[in-house]
Amino acid sequence: MRVSTGRANQSDNRMFTVVVEAFGVRRQRQAERRFTVPFGQLQGLMQSIAQTGGRISAVLADDGASPAPAPKANAAPSKPAAVSHANVPVNLYKPKDPFVGTVTDNYSLLAEGAIGRVNHITFDLSGGDPQLHYVEGQSIGIIPDGTDANGKPNKLRLYSIASTRHGDNLEGNTVSLCVRQLEYEKDGETIHGVCSTFLCDIEPGAKVKITGPVGKEMLLPEDEEANVIMLATGTGIAPMRTYLRRMFEPSEREKNGWHFRGKAWLLMGVPTTPNLLYDDDFNRYVSEFPENFRYTKAISREQQNANGGRMYIQDRVSENAEEIFSWIENPKTHVYMCGLRGMEPGIDEAMTAAATAKGLNWAELRPQLKKADRWHVETY
Ligand SMILES: Cc1cc2nc3c(=O)[nH]c(=O)nc-3n(C[C@H](O)[C@H](O)[C@H](O)COP(=O)(O)OP(=O)(O)OC[C@H]3O[C@@H](n4cnc5c(N)ncnc54)[C@H](O)[C@@H]3O)c2cc1C
Repeated sequence: MRVSTGRANQSDNRMFTVVVEAFGVRRQRQAERRFTVPFGQLQGLMQSIAQTGGRISAVLADDGASPAPAPKANAAPSKPAAVSHANVPVNLYKPKDPFVGTVTDNYSLLAEGAIGRVNHITFDLSGGDPQLHYVEGQSIGIIPDGTDANGKPNKLRLYSIASTRHGDNLEGNTVSLCVRQLEYEKDGETIHGVCSTFLCDIEPGAKVKITGPVGKEMLLPEDEEANVIMLATGTGIAPMRTYLRRMFEPSEREKNGWHFRGKAWLLMGVPTTPNLLYDDDFNRYVSEFPENFRYTKAISREQQNANGGRMYIQDRVSENAEEIFSWIENPKTHVYMCGLRGMEPGIDEAMTAAATAKGLNWAELRPQLKKADRWHVETY
């Protein structure tokens, strides 16, 4: 997609032209269509185009003329990666020979009136050789008991780790997960996911096959002065909870000796207030570390966006675009995104519109941030 950034420093009365590739029957390409709107309507227009299956080929500032060459985004650093991958444990336990952990805790994270089921589940990892250990931002595999439709043993499913390396009990011998029970309708029947149901139903004392840890995409920078923007929907909060505990939970801070002095900003999307996860802890961090932690909620079925529609996380990104981009211009800033895969296009559109308004080209900037190890995405 081309994004014209021609007039970067004008007010938000600027007009933008969105160029859409139009398709006819059998996806035959037809003449392109152009829509010109003021900046305030740009995000809504891009969303409607995406919802109706249109493909945006360019966003042009001002009068829709040929786009000016995009300036080099100044937000991406030339510095090498700021996240250390050294000493990160990977695949200590593989599916053929998994570690067998013991469930110590399993409780609902939802308040009365919430939609669905989301549980916090903790496993004791003691006694392994090697000891199953991990760092913040990694995932583990769970092999549910039982067999699949073909009579073969169930395969593993991955889950983001929701505890710091020290575990919720700070003893370094447990791992916790945040699991949503998958539920959907098919042919008039309610289907429940195999592993997520196995985990949500499991009782303390039960033995569970665990593999991993895996993943180096979501590691935190070691820099105590880093800034961290977190974009999470639903159980995508799991890695963010580990980061925030590492940064702000007093007992964890004492244990880890990592004196975070940067800024952290969590933007969290859920359908209803009772679906907010770990909300009390995050509110406590806001009151104890007001200079360092900011917490912005998008509650889609209760709050309205600027266009009167449901408030999704991408709407919060749009609302705060100016500030998000001024954070990103600082080379110490990392962005983490986690949750259902469906969140990605909305965030991408919001970032495209926000970058355009700042005179930046998101299509160029994002790969630069990724290369600099400052843009971290884990969606599923
Ligand atoms: C890196 C990573 C991290 C993850 N972290 C977490 C986490 O922290 N918490 C969490 O809860 N999950 C997480 N997941 C997802 C998790 O791995 C499982 O995919 C999820 O729990 C569902 O597994 P299941 O065995 O319950 O479902 P399954 O029984 O395996 O069913 C899944 C299948 O159901 C079908 N299906 C799903 N939805 C629909 C639908 N609406 N209509 C029709 N068919 C449908 C699809 O074929 C899909 O493959 C993560 C995934 C990855 C890759």
